Amino acid sequence: MTYEIYRKIVSKEKYFDSWDSVTATNLGSQLQDQIYSEYLVKCEVFQRDKFTCQNKECKKECVDLTFHHVIFKEDGGLYTVNNGLTLCDKCHKNYHRAKSALVLLDGRVFQRLAKSTKYNWKKLKSEMKVIRKSVKGQNREITWDQISLILKWFFDQFEK
Ligand SMILES: [Zn+2]
Ligand SMILES: [Zn+2]
Repeated sequence: MTYEIYRKIVSKEKYFDSWDSVTATNLGSQLQDQIYSEYLVKCEVFQRDKFTCQNKECKKECVDLTFHHVIFKEDGGLYTVNNGLTLCDKCHKNYHRAKSALVLLDGRVFQRLAKSTKYNWKKLKSEMKVIRKSVKGQNREITWDQISLILKWFFDQFEK
């Protein structure tokens, strides 16, 4: 990944150009605005962190950069520049799985609490089941609500 669109901010129109046009249209303007504003935050965080994993111990084997919420999403942390941190996929996963403490390049230390804050897979699974059930064997389009739900699920998996 080159992160080109994060180095040089593109317009909202251009951003959604790379999406399947039907999907982008079906999102509706509200969800589009939200996704685009999160993209802008991500640009700023990645640029501030110089496109580098901020884990001091990072072995740089993995270069897939992700957006980490310093105050976790589940604790009310927002998708903002101040609450954002660039971590590579590997360090990010390790930290969330509490495999290691996180020591940042700037010296800050974060110790993952032992309490399990796993995703509610049961709930997600049942949500997905509802979607599957409603489209099963039917030759019809997925509704806007269903798309939002899928996207919500998708972002929950990848944008921790
Ligand atoms: Zn890393
Ligand atoms: Zn995270």
